[in-house]
Amino acid sequence: MRISIRTAIVVAITLTAVVAMAQEEPVKLRELADHLYLLSTDQGSYTTNTIALVGDDGVLLVDTQASSDAAYLKEAVDKFEKGTPKYIINTHRHVEHIGGNAIFGDEPIVIAHELVPKKLKSGSYIFNEFPEATFPDITLSDSLTLYFNGERIELHALPGSHDDNEIIVHFTNAKVVHLSSLVNGFNFPSIDSHGDVLKFAECVAAAIELLPEDVMIVSGHNDIGTWSDLRTYHAMLTETTEIVRVALAEGKDVETIQSENLLGDWERYAGSYVSLDAWTEYLAEGLQRSGPLKERAFVPLYKAWKSEGATAAVELYRSLKRDHPDEYLFDDATLQASGSKLLGNGHYQAAVVFLEANLQLYPEADYTFYTNYLLARAHNELGERELAIQYCEKALELNPEFAAATNFLQELKCPGS
Ligand SMILES: [Zn+2]
Repeated sequence: MRISIRTAIVVAITLTAVVAMAQEEPVKLRELADHLYLLSTDQGSYTTNTIALVGDDGVLLVDTQASSDAAYLKEAVDKFEKGTPKYIINTHRHVEHIGGNAIFGDEPIVIAHELVPKKLKSGSYIFNEFPEATFPDITLSDSLTLYFNGERIELHALPGSHDDNEIIVHFTNAKVVHLSSLVNGFNFPSIDSHGDVLKFAECVAAAIELLPEDVMIVSGHNDIGTWSDLRTYHAMLTETTEIVRVALAEGKDVETIQSENLLGDWERYAGSYVSLDAWTEYLAEGLQRSGPLKERAFVPLYKAWKSEGATAAVELYRSLKRDHPDEYLFDDATLQASGSKLLGNGHYQAAVVFLEANLQLYPEADYTFYTNYLLARAHNELGERELAIQYCEKALELNPEFAAATNFLQELKCPGS
């Protein structure tokens, strides 16, 4: 079972789809303390949170949103009238936290965990081809203190739960902390393939230890909370883990744990993008996992695309799948995520080749609706509106609830409406 990686990838690619929709007020501003602001974007079922520290020294940002929201973020930052940010701190490497770095150019000093540079050029991220200005200038693996605008800002690396490269950013005078994705806005957290659900309680306990009791907690997504919310959250993590551990030891499978509603007391943490059932699956997978997970074949696929083009890359994927089935993890996520990123970077014809191959190789996959939707977008970019309509209709036939496809189909059929 590989649900956690699957969920992480779909969340990542869904981000791009949702933010493509028109927004009334793209960046909401809220004052958290003197000189300290929350800048959040609404992504449908969740928000993504940036903090800005603004004063005579200039602007310091914690996280920079997805690249599709970068222009909105810059507009909001420009309104402070303090020029280009001096510092950007990235709480971890995921696209909706680093995507706006590059819009501010080379001037800001970017700070992130020491694993971030390498991670931005590996796995599926190799297809993002991030511009140089996205990459950190300073990295840390332990802690770092900055003095800026009269604030003492402490950075602590707390990696290994949601992903393997998180840092938390504590404004010690204002008593405000950005807790990365450690609490996911006090909803059940999500776990990247390089994260570990069993390390969540340990990382959250370390944060509780580091922070004062009157701290205000901002996380990568969703609501603000308090230190006591963090303690309750920690209790949720330890207690739900223990219940699933005992149930598995008694021989129950995930479906039984879900149908018996064994985690029902924590239902209030469901929402955002991790349901109670998904949290149960994360826990069961983490408790049953033996050894590291296999990687997907993104890197050889990318290298083949760069040197020989999309058709040769897809051929390589087919031959790896056929001749080396144990070397990589093979499912519909590899070609879909690669195709999505090629589409995002304007390589529409290559995206079509990757996505068509995905439909041929994995016609029955759960996320085939999304591959069809991506094909609709690629064909539209290529000026092939009729084909785009066909793929969009197929996406909706497979998943009638998929709002992004409903909106896009309307746009295709009535341009300008
Ligand atoms: Zn993340």
